[in-house]
Amino acid sequence: MAGVNLRAFREKVKKHRKGMRAFLTRTENHPPRRLDAMVAEIDREVWRETDCLTCSNCCRKMTPTFTDRDVKRISKHLGMTGAAFRERWLYRDRKGDWMNRSQPCQFLDLKTNMCGIYEVRPADCSGFPHLTRRPMADYMQWHRQNLQYCPATYRMVERLRERVAAMKAG
Ligand code: SF4
Ligand code: SF4
Repeated sequence: MAGVNLRAFREKVKKHRKGMRAFLTRTENHPPRRLDAMVAEIDREVWRETDCLTCSNCCRKMTPTFTDRDVKRISKHLGMTGAAFRERWLYRDRKGDWMNRSQPCQFLDLKTNMCGIYEVRPADCSGFPHLTRRPMADYMQWHRQNLQYCPATYRMVERLRERVAAMKAG
């Protein structure tokens, strides 16, 4: 498994983000045959090549959504009330969801890239970056956003683009 080079990743994002997003929009509007099966194969490849412990960019640059169940589980783990937990770390966004007030996430160990509440982390974190959500065409909005932060998402889109181009070329 290879380490993540975030500097090189940021350069690639700057250069190709627009094109990658446009590709996802085309794929959303005209999904190719076997899209979900193709992405399932790519997902396995991507995780053989991506070591999140050399990255943690999601925990540094994004916030998970905390459901009521997450708040209950995590606050209990920390020996706090749900209200005290929310008061200390969260805010409500415009949609009414509970989000982290600060980035990087307060539970991230910045030296080791490890999550301090890994066993009880929010469901959003354990599912991130949601590459295998089905049908994929329904989750393009997430991938369009995440590809600028998450090297694994970026790689998935890159591979998918190559495969779709190869299919078209016959
Ligand atoms: S709770 Fe853990 S996995 Fe989720 S953003 Fe914070 S450090 Fe990352
Ligand atoms: S999920 Fe994506 S952004 Fe988060 S640590 Fe892994 S590769 Fe990096």
